[in-house]
Amino acid sequence: LVILLFQHSFSLFYLFIPFIVLLIILITASFYVNSQFFIKTICRIPAEKKEIILSFDDGPDPVITPMILGVLKKYNVTAVFFCIGKKAALQPDLVAEIKNNGHLIGNHSYSHAKWFDFLSPARMAEDIKRADNVLTKITGNKVIYFRPPYGVTNFAVKKALKNFKYLNIGWSLRSFDTITTSKEKTLDKLKKQLKAGYIVLFHDNIAITPSILEEFIGYLHVNGFKIASLDTYYK
Ligand SMILES: [Zn+2]
Repeated sequence: LVILLFQHSFSLFYLFIPFIVLLIILITASFYVNSQFFIKTICRIPAEKKEIILSFDDGPDPVITPMILGVLKKYNVTAVFFCIGKKAALQPDLVAEIKNNGHLIGNHSYSHAKWFDFLSPARMAEDIKRADNVLTKITGNKVIYFRPPYGVTNFAVKKALKNFKYLNIGWSLRSFDTITTSKEKTLDKLKKQLKAGYIVLFHDNIAITPSILEEFIGYLHVNGFKIASLDTYYK
């Protein structure tokens, strides 16, 4: 009996291995925006020209977004802003200003809720559509870009996005500006990791970001990197 039990539990253990492996794959794929597992995402542009893309998430913010716009204007460069619908609804003038400064505007969901990735596909689609309506109404343009909140994708996101014809935009380099305490360390890391064709992720609701951005753009200019507009490659 002991031998049988041993063999039984032993085989049960092996039975669990594929499920555990599958679970690990699914969880890992969920958290990597460029895994291409659930949805097709654009995570970089062609690298032939030593160009990069600047992208900003989680705005518009009444204080930080105008500062970011100021830095971009100073250097005469454009970026793509993935706006949160409920914030955009509160600041339509700021969204209009982003657009009028020549930047692109993408959908980053309406709620950007912590539990977004646990919503049903129908609720998720509703949330995305709500943001789409807000942004379309303010800008008068069709929204063509989407970036999933937190960069998390799963089967529900995949199903929800079937209702739209978005170009899903990921990133190739995260500034981690949301958690940094040191501008120098962040810049060092960005400079070390940056390659031609990269889409760089910043946030236009973080106090340290405008100063990081200013130095980063200076570095790009000195080192021959050009800042491209995403719609040059994807529209
Ligand atoms: Zn976000």
